Amino acid sequence: MLKNEEAQYMINVYNRQPELTPFLVKGEGSYVWDEEGTAHLDFVGGLAVNALGHSPPDVVKAACEQLERLIHTSNLYYTEPQIKLARSLVQRTSADRVFFCNSGAEANEAAIKLARKYARTLHREDRYEIITALNSFHGRTMGTLTATGQEKAQKGFAPLLPGFRYAHFNDLRSFKSQLSAKTCAVMVEPLQGEGGIHLATGEFLAGLRQLCDEQELLLIFDEVQCGMGRTGALFAFEHYGVLPDIFTAAKALGGGLPIGAMLCTEEVAKGFSPGDHASTFGGNPVACAAAQVVLEQVGREDFLQEVSRKGEHLKGELSRLTEKLPALIKEVRGKGLLLGVELNEDKGKEIQRKCQEKRLLINCIGERVLRLMPPLNVKQEEIEKALAILTEVLLENK
Ligand SMILES: *Cc1c(COP(=O)(O)O)cnc(C)c1O
Repeated sequence: MLKNEEAQYMINVYNRQPELTPFLVKGEGSYVWDEEGTAHLDFVGGLAVNALGHSPPDVVKAACEQLERLIHTSNLYYTEPQIKLARSLVQRTSADRVFFCNSGAEANEAAIKLARKYARTLHREDRYEIITALNSFHGRTMGTLTATGQEKAQKGFAPLLPGFRYAHFNDLRSFKSQLSAKTCAVMVEPLQGEGGIHLATGEFLAGLRQLCDEQELLLIFDEVQCGMGRTGALFAFEHYGVLPDIFTAAKALGGGLPIGAMLCTEEVAKGFSPGDHASTFGGNPVACAAAQVVLEQVGREDFLQEVSRKGEHLKGELSRLTEKLPALIKEVRGKGLLLGVELNEDKGKEIQRKCQEKRLLINCIGERVLRLMPPLNVKQEEIEKALAILTEVLLENK
């Protein structure tokens, strides 16, 4: 079986196990199929990527048409999908300008570079430090790994990039305590994903905005996971009415195709000049054509309201379960269709495995936080089915 050869040929960073890990061959809507033809209800959604489900027809059509017309040009030339997507993103958000890349880490890397360059060119001061949150996740490149406030991700990769300081999430005083004459920006996720599903408070984000205004710092929101409709707003910061100077998107943006974007205000965009930054594949026409469809569908008000409604229902049902199983479940957190169930014990991986045996794919962060992030167009009956399986497994493991 081909599955068994993975361990021979691939570098072992994902810890897949032949006897446990499904080998997926097909996807449609909220379901994926393994090589034996078994359907699995997918509440991992490609880690918050498959916003419109698996192989959504409109995205497939747009991408296929673009594939036949023009797969790639360099960024030395104009292409239609790229400019159209930039225009749509700007019209639909608080941003004025966009830079395209291929992933979340690259989008954040671009944000870090822009923040430093802006401080140096516009303020003419040597300011480069960025304050990020403990428990955050910003990516795996050396820059974004350094921005990531988690020792376990950084271990073994020293020397890290100089110029980062860490503060406690949702703690404005902690952020203030990390200020220095060298600070140029603050970067946070409005909803921490990989860190265990922790939602920023309105007070915290508004406080950061005020702090950044007073100190002339840039406020950067990493919306790679929580953006593109995931929380019931196109970008999570819209819930708060707090506007960033820079924000980043990736995961769900291409509906499954790799694309990232760094978006910023007109003023901050002045920090970059020709030659300061680039990406060979960034804004690839096929990825942009796909993202255009995703943005048009996910950005609709009625679609976002449905995400909120489904999210509230799912969260409400999970909270009811918490009341029934107080010894097992500690807390239910999150917003929209990015929800976490924290357990009191290290049973997360076991529960994840048991759900998988019953054909429900869920994710587990660390040992204790079950993470649910189904496609945003998940059907009501699919939510009921996932709840039934999860309830059954939790009752068996209480
Ligand atoms: C996934 C993620 C990233 C990194 O994205 P990649 O596409 O894997 O590089 C960055 N920030 C957040 C908040 C993420 O969830």
